[in-house]
Amino acid sequence: MSISKALIDEAIQWRRDFHARPELGYHEQQTSERVAQLLERFGIDVNRGLAGTGVVGTLRNGQGPTIGIRADMDALPIQELGQCAHTSTHQGCMHACGHDGHTAILLATARHLSETRRFSGTVHFVFQPAEEGLAGARKMIEDGLFEQFPMDAIYGLHNWPGVPAGHVVINPGPMMASLDTFEITLTGKGCHAAMPDKGADPIIAAAQLILALQTIVSRRLSPLDSAVISVTQINAGEAINVIPETASIKGTVRCLQPQVRDTVEQLIRQFVEQLPAVFGIGGELVYHAGYPVTQNHREAAAAVRRAAVTAVGESRVQWGCSPSMASEDFAFMLQACPGAYLWIGVDGEHPGAALHNPYYDFNDRVIEPAIAVWTQLVEQSLPVT
Ligand SMILES: [Zn+2]
Ligand SMILES: [Zn+2]
Repeated sequence: MSISKALIDEAIQWRRDFHARPELGYHEQQTSERVAQLLERFGIDVNRGLAGTGVVGTLRNGQGPTIGIRADMDALPIQELGQCAHTSTHQGCMHACGHDGHTAILLATARHLSETRRFSGTVHFVFQPAEEGLAGARKMIEDGLFEQFPMDAIYGLHNWPGVPAGHVVINPGPMMASLDTFEITLTGKGCHAAMPDKGADPIIAAAQLILALQTIVSRRLSPLDSAVISVTQINAGEAINVIPETASIKGTVRCLQPQVRDTVEQLIRQFVEQLPAVFGIGGELVYHAGYPVTQNHREAAAAVRRAAVTAVGESRVQWGCSPSMASEDFAFMLQACPGAYLWIGVDGEHPGAALHNPYYDFNDRVIEPAIAVWTQLVEQSLPVT
């Protein structure tokens, strides 16, 4: 399979243009318009407006199954610190997660497939907004993605620092953790700090509760199950000589299995209801269910593996990795439709910055192998008979 040098060069240019003009979740107007215009230029049917800035391009080529491939388009509220010709021109906003690369890869794949057409069936190219914490994938589903564009399977990728450039990593089970957040309010009775017996101290209760929450993972879950409970914010008090009336604790929970996720939520609830009460403090929990576990479907993951082995060679494909405890809203798509999510390595000779780092810049060398993987996946999933 040959991907033309001209197409790779064009894709690199798109990628750098996206990098220079990043847009935050649900505000990807320019990016989305550019994506739609390019797809139209390639002769692909374009649907605009799912989840606001979402774009779906549809390429039909005879009878056969239908698959979707998804890219995310949004950037992060981070001030870019790296300096290069395509540094972000938008103050306080940058592509620090490589979604500029994902978007360029999918556009180039669409163009390549529209020219080569060695498949029989339909491909939907799904460009989604707002992956970074705002659940753009769920919004596209709510807006009718899978009703308007029924698919036999959907696939997505993420660039992955720590893995050599162009290597593919795929797991037949969970790839990324679920993401929930919690907010706990502890209400006691404020008083003079010199007379603690006159009040009820929510700070003491908060300190005990934070330590107690850590025993959920260490003492209540099986050592073979995975979960992270991180308390990330504590707020209480305004004066050094006052015991405050309230304290607030916020944090995040990550799990790899739905049943572990349910157990952790129940135990946090139990601790918040019962532990502060011992100190005469009221506890209230608000638990926000965020992204589910990104759980690959076995057959779809095997299809990615086969495609990747053909595209980049067996020695560059890792099957059966440890999942990441970070999260991904593609999880919603995998709940609604069979499919799989893969990582493609981005490390050159000298590893670059981590995802979400202000010096991060997508490695353009990954564009070509990524197009090759998607192209193989389409040609193998939608064979010409
Ligand atoms: Zn990210
Ligand atoms: Zn990302």
